[in-house]
Amino acid sequence: MADIVLENVSKQYPDGSTAVHGVNLTIADGEFVILVGPSGCGKSTTLNMIAGLEDITSGDLRIGGTRMNETAPKDRDIAMVFQSYALYPHMSVRQNIAFPLTLAKLDKAEINRRVEEAATMLDLTEYLDRKPANLSGGQRQRVAMGRAIVRTPNAFLMDEPLSNLDAKLRVQMRTEIAALQARLGTTTVYVTHDQTEAMTLGDRVVVMRAGYVQQVGAPQELYDHP
Ligand code: ADP
Ligand code: ADP
Repeated sequence: MADIVLENVSKQYPDGSTAVHGVNLTIADGEFVILVGPSGCGKSTTLNMIAGLEDITSGDLRIGGTRMNETAPKDRDIAMVFQSYALYPHMSVRQNIAFPLTLAKLDKAEINRRVEEAATMLDLTEYLDRKPANLSGGQRQRVAMGRAIVRTPNAFLMDEPLSNLDAKLRVQMRTEIAALQARLGTTTVYVTHDQTEAMTLGDRVVVMRAGYVQQVGAPQELYDHP
């Protein structure tokens, strides 16, 4: 687990457009921060720069006190969850969740122990032998979460993880994600365009607009105006 510090971070895409302008943000170790704002305001770009999926044009990124502007994604030790789940279709639920541990060459007994633990937390124990195609959307997203929590990463980065789910399931999974994050205490950055999610999920909300950070505060400070 680690803190994440963005210092004057900007992103210019090769076509010359500036997607993110001088963002300053300190996310404490264990904190759950929501990046919210309308489509195109730079949320995903910001998240992807933290993950190392996009280069940082200028400014500094530090994770756990180490400058990581040029660090390869795999060496940042971050777990990502995407809207599209990004599961491996040919692998079972068990193999999908185990994947980061298999890559890390942990021994089989330890892998099984951790997969069972993650599956229990996410209510997936009955589905471990299924393929993703035979799961509901909510179950698929739980598998993606399982793959994220099966190791102890520096941080979780989530990009609109609930956007493909129906309204009822979104509400249920919001509660589950909040509980899971509180239980694990892992630094989490969660991107959404949904104000209700922003209000109900995190410790702190960062409102972005047109590539800038417009407001930062506790959810009630930002939205509970009479
Ligand atoms: P959000 O996640 O808030 O919807 P994005 O970070 O995806 O916003 O995009 C921010 C801005 O950067 C948008 O104007 C978008 O069109 C632009 N953008 C995103 N990705 C690219 C890219 N690969 N090349 C050029 N422009 C991009
Ligand atoms: P989201 O809003 O969910 O972040 P988008 O539909 O904006 O996703 O972007 C999907 C993909 O297209 C991303 O990989 C993003 O980098 C890319 N993209 C977005 N806007 C542009 C753009 N203006 N030019 C090139 N690529 C873009």
